[in-house]
Amino acid sequence: MIVFAFCMGVLIGVLATIASILLLVNWFERGPKMGVYDTIRFPCPICGEMYHAQSKGSSLKSLREFNLVNTPKDVLSDVNRHAPFECPKCFTTFKICIYPTVCVIKVGRTEKEEGS
Ligand SMILES: [Zn+2]
Repeated sequence: MIVFAFCMGVLIGVLATIASILLLVNWFERGPKMGVYDTIRFPCPICGEMYHAQSKGSSLKSLREFNLVNTPKDVLSDVNRHAPFECPKCFTTFKICIYPTVCVIKVGRTEKEEGS
């Protein structure tokens, strides 16, 4: 009887371990894919402040980071998903021009109330 109880204990322990491993695998397969995007870095065309834009254009999106010049085409195709971007420093708004060459172009400027 003691042996039987011991075997049941081991069995439950093994099942619990397998269950937690399965949960972990499930999380790795599904969890991180939600809200995953690539990041593209480029400077504000006016003041040069670095801006980080998000792209979900690539099916391989996995929190990679690119500089504008070496960004793959599929990632680049979605770079303007949140455009126009606003520079946090000088409030210039801009977007990425892809054709004929990849560059940052100024769209306008957000008028901010200057602090007193
Ligand atoms: Zn700026």
